[in-house]
Amino acid sequence: MTFWNRSLLTLAASLTLHFTCGADTGAPLQGEWQIPNLEIAKRQIRAYVTSGRYEEEVRLVAGQARQFLEERLRQPVQGRAAIVFDVDETCLSNYRHIASLDFGYQPQQWNLWVAQAQAPPLRGVLELYQYARSRGLAVVFLTGRSPDQREKTEQNLRQAGFDEWTQLILKPADSSESGAEFKARQRQQLSQAGLEILVNVGDQASDLAGGYSESVFKLPNPMYWLP
Ligand SMILES: [Mg+2]
Repeated sequence: MTFWNRSLLTLAASLTLHFTCGADTGAPLQGEWQIPNLEIAKRQIRAYVTSGRYEEEVRLVAGQARQFLEERLRQPVQGRAAIVFDVDETCLSNYRHIASLDFGYQPQQWNLWVAQAQAPPLRGVLELYQYARSRGLAVVFLTGRSPDQREKTEQNLRQAGFDEWTQLILKPADSSESGAEFKARQRQQLSQAGLEILVNVGDQASDLAGGYSESVFKLPNPMYWLP
C-alpha cells in the first residue's frame, strides 16, 4: 500500500467515525455546547423562585448584612449611621410581573405594573430594614426608577411594609449616567452630607460598585442584568 492510499484510508475512517457519532446522537445534547438554552434557563428560574429557594437565599444575604450591622454598631460611628437599599428585586419583588411576560421586558407593561404598586416585599430584606430602623439608622432608597414614578413607588414601599425613610432617590429619565455611576455619585453626596453608609444592599453589581459604603451585600437575581 502506498503512502497516499494509506492516507486516504485513514481519512475515510475518520470521516466515517465522525458521521457515525453525529448519526447516533442526532442533535447535540444539552451541555455539549458552552451556552445555556433559553427555555431550560427559564424553567430553572421558575423552579428557583417557586420552590422557595430564591427567598431563602435572599434571607441568607440579608442575615449576613444584619450580622455585619450588629457587630459594626458596637463601635462608634462618625456621622449618622445609614443603610442604602436598592428598590426593585431588593425591597420589592417584581417576579410575578416578569414571569407573566415570560421574562421579557416591555416598558409600557412595566409602567402599568409600577402604577399598580402591588409588588410584594422580599421578606428577608424587610426584616433587615426593620432591624436597621430599630437601631436608629437612616434609611435611603436609591433606585433607577424615574421621578415620575415617585408617588407609586412610595405607595408600594409603604404597602409592602417599608413605612419610613430618610430619602428616596430616583434617577432622572434624561440622565446619561449608568446606574452604577449615578448610584455611586448619590452615595458620595450622602456621605458628604454627613451620613456614614454602613451597609449597601442591591441585586445588581451596579448597585454596589464605586464605594461610599463600608460594606456591600449582593442579592441573587437570575432574571435580568443592569449596567
Ligand atoms: Mg434592583
